[in-house]
Amino acid sequence: MPDSLITSEVDFDAPGKNAGYLRLPHSVHRSAYGWIPIPVICINNGEGPTLLLMAGNHGDEYEGQTTLTRLANELQAEDIRGRVIILPMANFPAAEAGTRISPIDQGNLNRAFPGDPNGHPTWMIAHYIEEVLMVMADYAIDLHSGGTSLYYPPTLLRGMGQTPEEAATLVTLQSAFDLPYAWVFTSGGGTTSTGRTAMAAANRKGVPSVLAELGGGGALDPAILAQTLRGLRRILHALDMLPGYEPDAAIGTRELNARGLVYAYDTGLFELFGGIGDMVTQGQTVGQIHFPDTPLRAPVPVTSPYTGMILCKRFIGRVARGDTLLQIAADAN
Ligand SMILES: [Zn+2]
Repeated sequence: MPDSLITSEVDFDAPGKNAGYLRLPHSVHRSAYGWIPIPVICINNGEGPTLLLMAGNHGDEYEGQTTLTRLANELQAEDIRGRVIILPMANFPAAEAGTRISPIDQGNLNRAFPGDPNGHPTWMIAHYIEEVLMVMADYAIDLHSGGTSLYYPPTLLRGMGQTPEEAATLVTLQSAFDLPYAWVFTSGGGTTSTGRTAMAAANRKGVPSVLAELGGGGALDPAILAQTLRGLRRILHALDMLPGYEPDAAIGTRELNARGLVYAYDTGLFELFGGIGDMVTQGQTVGQIHFPDTPLRAPVPVTSPYTGMILCKRFIGRVARGDTLLQIAADAN
């Protein structure tokens, strides 16, 4: 076992469905010998692969947290083949606060990998996930959304794979999840990755992994929750871990490559013309920023530096210079 100070109440080798907490020692004013309780569920039934399911990597992304909570309740050990490890609130302090980053150390878990066993809590969590959980995993899925500030339609994110086998596995995961969009990265990945995300952690451990963006705006959309639950069951079935499930027909996924982000250069209120799924051309005015603080000042147009489809939009009306307003993507090559 690596030198993590985090201990698990759950024995990952025990059969059946077991739930409890990862205990992260946290000695503070109100609790000298206390620990941070990171919820964990392990469903283990004999031979088969291990799938790691994570949400709450960013604390204000609720779709994955909700769906994994439901899945953990509904999945019974006798239904599955292999082992499912579920972390519904991976960065628990952030998820408890409903904020993207942790209020106790300002840590953004998805920028903290490979972590630090002696660091602040967010970095200790990253280290435990990378060095303990990823090492046990054969596949990993990290559920995100646009959080408070952004909104994505249900979109799977994946790399191209470093080997034909990994590429095939990633396509299997994408097809099984069956979300409307997939954002395919054309570079990165591999065991030498220096990325700071959970996906990079999976890459370093040779674990095929995908991420999903599932709405956002700090809300919960029942249609997206249903799509997410369906997708996870379909993935379990595709990996031969849920043999009794009968998947319905696939709807299909539009593969995209990212073109770039559109930023605000003014501070005010952003009005988007149109919405997600709209096609825009380079130089096109896609919205404008209003200045109610300055009487009679005309709005400033916002133009897209890219040709493509609006994949993601800012959800909050107030913007400041440097804020992301949109992400533009184009059909994959
Ligand atoms: Zn996120």
